Amino acid sequence: MTSHPPLPLYPILETAREQVLEQGIGLSESQLLEVLRLPDEALPAALDLAHQVRLKHCGEDVEVEGIISIKTGGCPEDCHFCSQSGLFDSPVRGVWLDIPELVKAAKETAATGATEFCIVAAVRGPDTKLMNQIKFAIDRIHQEVDINIACSLGMLTQPQVDQLASWGVHRYNHNLETARSYFPQVVTTHTYEERLETCAMVKAAGMELCCGALIGMGESLEQRAELAAQLAALEPHEVPLNFLNPRPGTPLEDQPVMDGKDALRAVAAFRFAMPRTVLRYAGGRELTLGDLGTREGLLGGINAVIVGNYLTTLGRPAAADLELLLDLNMPIKELQKTL
Ligand code: SF4
Repeated sequence: MTSHPPLPLYPILETAREQVLEQGIGLSESQLLEVLRLPDEALPAALDLAHQVRLKHCGEDVEVEGIISIKTGGCPEDCHFCSQSGLFDSPVRGVWLDIPELVKAAKETAATGATEFCIVAAVRGPDTKLMNQIKFAIDRIHQEVDINIACSLGMLTQPQVDQLASWGVHRYNHNLETARSYFPQVVTTHTYEERLETCAMVKAAGMELCCGALIGMGESLEQRAELAAQLAALEPHEVPLNFLNPRPGTPLEDQPVMDGKDALRAVAAFRFAMPRTVLRYAGGRELTLGDLGTREGLLGGINAVIVGNYLTTLGRPAAADLELLLDLNMPIKELQKTL
């Protein structure tokens, strides 16, 4: 563990030590805003405390997940950050993957030590054809690969939630993305409430809820704190934390890349909001944080990574992430089980 001076100077960190580290109670929205407003000098201490919170309440394992896109691009929704929307002039075009390719990717993902394999489709919600393909893919993967299957297929109806649960889907991803108060600025084709409804149905059906955030879209610090508090209220099993990578052709293409220190303050704040949640580094961290910042986040509250490439942008090679975890002496959950 990194060693930093004790934390006497910043009352909010003293509060976080007492409330989050000792008692396991997440910070409130106003307290999270104080963390997001900490000066740069306080950042090492904030990250160090967030790392202690993660070790105490989640353990030292790092959860690794692979993601694969069964259907890329051509989505009818207008999420302003997303190059998979068919409504923007962005270069991602519709592509479907076949089942043998999915099974091969699941095998490769399992070989990295990943415990989750997430099948993603760029859709508003699945139609009958997609649901049938997903069922077929799940059956094949379950037959051939020992890995949990997660899905991310957009908004669901109750019968679809029930079907996915009955097929053995372990976790469902549906992101809030941003704060309720900022959502209408970045999505106009569906509402925040619709997203919340899917999240609630997934939890009620007994699947683990993976519900992510995308920060750096021009939201204020107040709205970032609001988002962290709204996510905490949902009590998701996992929160993938994405940083905007402005994609050409999307309405947010000219949004400046967020400052690396702000991103790390957000990592600490999200950990203080949700002491027990799997907090996963997801898209955009290479651009926002680089290698050094990636390290700092892994020692600052993050306890999960995605291996390999993201859906529309290249991530770091899987081997680079796995080597970094080894270097940081962080055991990968699944590999630990087999040792
Ligand atoms: S974020 Fe999802 S729903 Fe929104 S445009 Fe992209 S693929 Fe479609």
